Amino acid sequence: MTGDGTRAVRAGLPAAEAYQPPVPPPVFAAHFHLPGDPSVAPYGYGRESNPTWVALQEAVAELESPGERAEALVFPSGMAAISATLLSLVKAGESVVLPSDGYQIWPKLRRRAEERGIVCHTAPTGGDGQLTALRAAWDRGERVRLLWLETPSNPGLDVCDIAALAREAHERGTWVAVDNTLATPLGQRPLELGADLSVASGTKALNGHGDVLLGYVASRDPELVEEIRQWRTVLGAIPGPMEAWLAHRGLATLQLRVARQAENALAVARALAERPEVSGLRHPGLPEDRDHALAARQMRSFGCVVSFTLPDRAHAERFLAALRLVDDATSFGGVRSTAERRGRWGGDAVPEGFVRFSLGIEDPEDLVADVRRALADAAG
Ligand SMILES: *Cc1c(COP(=O)(O)O)cnc(C)c1O
Repeated sequence: MTGDGTRAVRAGLPAAEAYQPPVPPPVFAAHFHLPGDPSVAPYGYGRESNPTWVALQEAVAELESPGERAEALVFPSGMAAISATLLSLVKAGESVVLPSDGYQIWPKLRRRAEERGIVCHTAPTGGDGQLTALRAAWDRGERVRLLWLETPSNPGLDVCDIAALAREAHERGTWVAVDNTLATPLGQRPLELGADLSVASGTKALNGHGDVLLGYVASRDPELVEEIRQWRTVLGAIPGPMEAWLAHRGLATLQLRVARQAENALAVARALAERPEVSGLRHPGLPEDRDHALAARQMRSFGCVVSFTLPDRAHAERFLAALRLVDDATSFGGVRSTAERRGRWGGDAVPEGFVRFSLGIEDPEDLVADVRRALADAAG
């Protein structure tokens, strides 16, 4: 098997052919010429499939599961992929176990799922919380269809033991889905660890340039993929060819970006650890992080996010305003560093001074100097 960098530059691309471009251009087509029997046609109508998505889907499947055949489906956003997975695979009367520290839209999606008769349990991310909730639901005789993990979680950066939870869940026929947004398929391969589905927002580190929204689902189970594919066709939440093409083009540098971001995250985390006003510092790559041993077992790279808490809201706002190389913006995983006071959204259970910091690909010494200076300014 090749290394990640080698795989990333070629994933999903056709073999070299004389006088053809190395990366096929985006195909803009609402429909394709379609003589005869449509059931044997690879392309007929643009809501069903498109060659530009297919290339990206093959690339994502190759990165998520290099050792064994998997399939991926791309969506116009991470939420489109998450909603399609949940709502197509879980029927009324069945249950799901969700993480308490999950992407901030989850409570709204949970309400929609409950309105459709899906029984939802939310349990603490990390530790034994979700396993305890899963067992309790089984004991009540519920048919638990799906255990949803987000690891490392956003924004709290708790790590769940994917392999152990998948083993437990599979004993009673519960599928496991992992939100792999933060790690990217180069940082963590949930399908290899036993998950049934790896679901992600490609908007973050996968695309990494802050200019595209995208999502995907990958699985080694063709029946699950088919169910979700049909849902995509029916709901019509499909990505644009231009977005799919941009994301595929960017995959060539994914290994470089992920490696530099992880290096920068660790350097900034170390600088933060020296400061008395910083509490609750989390980064799975920090040796002293409570989840480091588990992260080191299941992750290949520790991601671009560092989270920590400053004494109060005003202190965090002074720090963010004092940074010169870091934009005050939401999202994460981009080539330019960003940070935000997460409490401003009201959706996460975090202290007022909680900062989520996403490291870009700038030089580590510049970022560390900027952070040190901003901390000193904010402390006054
Ligand atoms: C951003 C994000 C999502 C949602 O993705 P969109 O592309 O914004 O729809 C889902 N999960 C996690 C962990 C995220 O960070």
